[in-house]
Amino acid sequence: MERAQRVMPGGVNSPVRSFRGVGGTPPFFASARGPYLVDLDGNRYLDMVLAYGPLILGHLPEAVVAALRGQLTRAEALGGPSELEVELAEEVARRMPAVEMLRLTSSGTEAAMGAVRLARAATGRDLILKFDGCYHGHADSLLAAAGSGLATLAIPGSPGVPPGTVADTLVASFNDLEGVAELFARQGERVAAVIVEPVAGNMGVVPPEPGFLAGLRTLSSEYGALLILDEVMTGFRVARGGAQQRYGITPDLTCLGKVIGGGLPVGAFGGRAALMGQLAPAGPVYHAGTLSGNPLAVTAGLATLRELDSPLPYQRLEEMGARLEEGMSSAGRRLGVPIRVNRVGSMLTFFFSEAAVRDYASARAGDLARFSAVHRGLLERGVFWPPSQFEAGFLSLAHTDLDLDRLLEAFSDALAAAA
Ligand SMILES: *Cc1c(COP(=O)(O)O)cnc(C)c1O
Repeated sequence: MERAQRVMPGGVNSPVRSFRGVGGTPPFFASARGPYLVDLDGNRYLDMVLAYGPLILGHLPEAVVAALRGQLTRAEALGGPSELEVELAEEVARRMPAVEMLRLTSSGTEAAMGAVRLARAATGRDLILKFDGCYHGHADSLLAAAGSGLATLAIPGSPGVPPGTVADTLVASFNDLEGVAELFARQGERVAAVIVEPVAGNMGVVPPEPGFLAGLRTLSSEYGALLILDEVMTGFRVARGGAQQRYGITPDLTCLGKVIGGGLPVGAFGGRAALMGQLAPAGPVYHAGTLSGNPLAVTAGLATLRELDSPLPYQRLEEMGARLEEGMSSAGRRLGVPIRVNRVGSMLTFFFSEAAVRDYASARAGDLARFSAVHRGLLERGVFWPPSQFEAGFLSLAHTDLDLDRLLEAFSDALAAAA
């Protein structure tokens, strides 16, 4: 870590990896397989981070490795269109009817940036409405009240983001439809888009309350604003067709990332053909990327999606998630520790809180010191849980029932030690 800190700010290339949210120093990882990570000292950890979401099949799944090996004999980058990109776009469209057309990017950040630019261009309006604690990548205009790394480090927005840039960003509380209605009543005619994580994952997992997403859909339509579902985390994770399928919401634009690249850098944004057709070169709205649609990255994404082409994997993830939720909750009850386990499918966060966690304020009100202690206890017991209260833990199809037994035992012990 000392060597890393000499050449990289904080020793890392993405802040949350630094462990500043929980204290201590992170293990440096050398390899991984299935649901396990191995650090430089040879210690093995059950991986509940899964690269912050992408690795829904676990590490080095056979189908993805075979596809990548094959692609490595053909090309690593092409600089021209390839059939692979078409196949990935078609696979996404089959799963998400609202995504008739898409544009590939190399990250979720670029996907959200592109979607916001397109929404502003298409509506001729400037304002964006986002939610406190929702994260949409690190583009300037979306770094107002963003969760995740910012939440962990308690940076209110970020220096270097000019006030003028976020002046066009309105912020409401997640699950507070009335607050959104009030904002719309005052400035609705100026709002280009509402952007939301359909299941918040970057303030820890916070599910949408019944009616919240449907209410956003109705209000946006009523005022002529677009609804952007940021499914970078939830896409192909909470259901075959993402949160939009799970909750029955049709967005105008969808942002994708993480699982769509199967561990390699892929993002995408998409929607109705008439909207997407406004992007360059078909239309005037600029968007580009040297490595967008990179053949190796797209190959990993395609192979991953093809392994997820039935309800079965999602049933398995749901079962495991339910077991984990129940096991953690009952450990809390047994030890008399107030715990709230928020879960949607295979995304899960435990909060040490008496009150329900339904927005960013209630997420922050939990006992962060206890979270840090339990995180440390899990690490000592061979479990790599996200090093922040405000990140989601994930399950993969590589996790076994035995892994869950061990995880729950480690959780109980870590909780007892921290109580
Ligand atoms: C991870 C994430 C992003 C950013 O994606 P990157 O690939 O890290 O740029 C955007 N939105 C949501 C909801 C995310 O979870």
